[in-house]
Amino acid sequence: MKVVDLRSDTVTRPTPAMREAMARAEVGDDVFGDDPTVNALQERIASLTGKEAALYMTSGTQSNLAAIMSHCGRGDEYIVGQMHHTYRWEAGGAAVLGSVQPQPLEHEADGTLSLASIEAAIKPDDAHFAKSRLLCLENTLGGKALPMSFMAEATALARRRGLATHLDGARVFNAATALGVPVREIASHFDSLSVCFSKGLGAPVGSALCGSKALIKSAQRWRKMLGGGLRQAGVIAAGALYALDHHVERLADDHALARRLAEGLQGIAGLTVERPETNIVFIDVAGDRAAGLLPHLESRGVLATGLYRLRFVTHLDVDAEGVDRAVAAVRDYFNV
Ligand SMILES: *Cc1c(COP(=O)(O)O)cnc(C)c1O
Repeated sequence: MKVVDLRSDTVTRPTPAMREAMARAEVGDDVFGDDPTVNALQERIASLTGKEAALYMTSGTQSNLAAIMSHCGRGDEYIVGQMHHTYRWEAGGAAVLGSVQPQPLEHEADGTLSLASIEAAIKPDDAHFAKSRLLCLENTLGGKALPMSFMAEATALARRRGLATHLDGARVFNAATALGVPVREIASHFDSLSVCFSKGLGAPVGSALCGSKALIKSAQRWRKMLGGGLRQAGVIAAGALYALDHHVERLADDHALARRLAEGLQGIAGLTVERPETNIVFIDVAGDRAAGLLPHLESRGVLATGLYRLRFVTHLDVDAEGVDRAVAAVRDYFNV
C-alpha cells in the first residue's frame, strides 16, 4: 500500500531531475565564499525578494535566529506572536543563545496581531525595561496568508517607533501565491526575511536569510558560530535553485489539493474543517473521537499530525488520488 504522507510539506523527496541538478552542481568551499552554486542561489533569492543580499542557511530555525541576533543585542527584545515559529517552535533559541527576550502577543482570530497590542508592547526607554528592537511577523501563519494591509500597517508602525522588522517567510511563496502578488512585494515591507527551500518548494535542505548587505554580513558571523558554515554546500544549494526554477508555480496545485481535501471532509458530524487558504488544512474533532483518528488513518496508509489540531499538508509528493484516499479514510472512521 502506497502511503499518503500529509504530515508536512517537509517530507518531499528530491525529484529525479532535482537530483540530477544536484549531482551536476559546481562546488567550492562556501566558507571561503568559493561555491558558485551557493553564490548563484544567494543572488537569485536576493533578487526575487528585492533585497541587497542573501545567505544560504542550514535551516529556517538557524536563519531566523541569525536574523534576530543580527537585529538585536543582549538585553534587547523582539515583539512576536504567541504562535509564531520564532517564539514557540524554535526551542527558545533567541533567549537561550541570543540573550534576546521575546515579547509574545496574542493573535486576533484571523492570525494577525492588533496594531494596538503591538504599540502597547513597545517599552519606554527606561532602565526597568528590555529595549524593544524588532517586530517579527510570519506569513503564511498556520496556512493562512495574512493580508498585505496588515503587513504594511504593522511594519509602518514598527518603523515609526524605531523598530526593525523581520518576516519568517518559511512559506512566503505560498503566501505570495495565495495573495496573488510577487514575493518581492511582501518582502518590501520588511528589513529582512527568511525563506525555506525545504518546505513546499521541495528541496531537501536549507533556507535563506535576505536583507541589507550590512545585515547579511552580521548574520554570516552568527551563522558560523551557530555551526552553519558549510563547505561544498553547492550540492544541496543546487536543489534549492532547481526548486526556484521549477516548483514555484506549481504551489497553486498544492493549494487546489488542500481545497479538494477540505471539501471532501465537509459535512461530517463532529468534524470542523477550516477553509484552507494555502496548502494546510486544519481539522478539529469534537470530544473523544479525536484520539483514535490518527491511528485509524495510519492503518489506512494516511499520515497526518495532531500536536494542537489535526493538520493535513499537501505538497509535491501528493496527488488527487492520495487526497481522495485520505478523505475516504476519514469518512470511513466516522462511518459516513
Ligand atoms: C518550518 C518553519 C521554519 C523553520 O524550520 P526548519 O525546520 O528549522 O527549517 C520557520 N518558520 C516556519 C513558519 C516554519 O514553518
